[in-house]
Amino acid sequence: MLDADFFRRWLTAATAAVDREAARLTELDSPIGDADHGSNLQRGFVAVSAVLEKEAPATPGGVLTLAGRQLISTVGGASGPLYGTLLRRTGKALGDAPEVSGAELAAALRIGVDAVMTLGGAAPGDKTMIDALVPAVDALGTSFDAAATAAEQGALATTPMQARKGRASYLGERSIGHQDPGATSSALLIGALAEAARD
Ligand code: ADP
Ligand code: MG
Ligand code: MG
Repeated sequence: MLDADFFRRWLTAATAAVDREAARLTELDSPIGDADHGSNLQRGFVAVSAVLEKEAPATPGGVLTLAGRQLISTVGGASGPLYGTLLRRTGKALGDAPEVSGAELAAALRIGVDAVMTLGGAAPGDKTMIDALVPAVDALGTSFDAAATAAEQGALATTPMQARKGRASYLGERSIGHQDPGATSSALLIGALAEAARD
């Protein structure tokens, strides 16, 4: 079973991964965006880690909803409300249970990803974070490591796609040939989940 501490470790590992990869995320956001994805997420996750330390919610749902609210209020770019919604809606779906199973987490994340698709209007194939998140949730029934691998493959698969949502879509066909920064950061988040599960 997964308790609040597991979810704190997930977000701490995500903060470290975003920190480590911030320059690369911003570099990916240069040719098809405005070169701020790494710094946007760095600011957001540093704030998430700080508020979790200060408030220490007692349940998985509490950890994720607090983290999601913090991302929404600290990240200015498109990714803030989208990742914030992912965590908030996933947390809400987990309710106030003190511990949840892997299957319950997979079902809740599915609800979170659906909420991101509703908010942003993106579907699989539009070259966004959705292209890493959907395969990750599909694979989560197998294992955390399978989900991490699926997210990485999903991020790589965005390179030949033409963007249909977000800033990159303004480039039309010129968005082809570049890996999507948001799909790449989603792979980091799911990789951090697999890391927390190994601890
Ligand atoms: P901004 O584009 O506002 O500068 P970021 O650079 O932080 O925001 O995030 C860009 C990423 O957000 C994109 O690479 C893409 O994965 C994701 N994104 C943008 N718009 C959408 C959307 N409508 N639905 C899903 N993801 C989106
Ligand atoms: Mg950007
Ligand atoms: Mg921006």
